Amino acid sequence: RKELLQQLKDKEDITLDGTKINIYANIGNSSDVGNVLKNDANGIGLFRSEFLYLENSDYPTEEQQFAAYKTVAENMAGKKVIIRTLDIGADKKVDYFKLDKEENPALGYRAIRICLTRKEIFKTQLRALYRAAVFGNISIMFPMIISVEEVKAIKVIIAQVKEELKQEGIPFKENVETGIMIETPASVMISDELAKEVDFFSVGTNDLTQYTLAIDRQNQKLEPFYNAHHKAVLKMIKMAADNAHAEGKWIGICGELGADITLTEEFLKMGIDELSVSASMVLEVRKRVREIDLTK
Ligand code: PEP
Ligand code: MG
Repeated sequence: RKELLQQLKDKEDITLDGTKINIYANIGNSSDVGNVLKNDANGIGLFRSEFLYLENSDYPTEEQQFAAYKTVAENMAGKKVIIRTLDIGADKKVDYFKLDKEENPALGYRAIRICLTRKEIFKTQLRALYRAAVFGNISIMFPMIISVEEVKAIKVIIAQVKEELKQEGIPFKENVETGIMIETPASVMISDELAKEVDFFSVGTNDLTQYTLAIDRQNQKLEPFYNAHHKAVLKMIKMAADNAHAEGKWIGICGELGADITLTEEFLKMGIDELSVSASMVLEVRKRVREIDLTK
């Protein structure tokens, strides 16, 4: 079986009827790139930047972050690298952030909510990202979005960061593709409006399932109730896909469900343009995509 999959290396991610799909890999550390290339992924669809914060005993500096993003971009040699801004909070706690203990951390102060209130942390990361984008094909993605106002606030901060870099004479890339994660039911329901504001969507099915089914993704007792194929979640993905395409934007899936080959055909029928999966699943998903005929 492994050998069979190896034969799929260097093969295109294309359906029998000729629809091109982008199969990318998820990574959680800059050292994971070797595995991505070994499995012949055509890009990185989710680079979880939290490792930089979790590995450190203090806020990672702009230079530290710049080096990490630049290395990944260079090693991917022109292939797309979608870096997600920090998603600390909830389950991922870091001492130096001095976050309060919360009753419902999954519904709490996390991700973009931290970035939009502690802007110096966010700006440091954005500066590193815009600088690193000079060295490869970097896109930026924002987690846990629930409103158009958040996206507009992000744009104001990006404009400030770029202006500051310009004033300081530091090289950066002017136009970086930016997208949002669709991982809250709110973002799905207003995805028509959000699609006007961003370049792409990437569905985080882990959190989208958690928030849609009101099931804590960490609570093992709830496993019997956690139906990853729940119709409500699939309908939401379809809705976000339709709204993305109505604005000419692309949509991918970077949550675990993207690697579920029993759903690949359904996803492609919805028009999902990209699937980002763990590196070890890339060839498996490629195999499945190449068997599908969307005209049937
Ligand atoms: C998700 O929620 O599906 C996702 C990809 O993000 P994370 O698992 O890092 O929360
Ligand atoms: Mg998530």
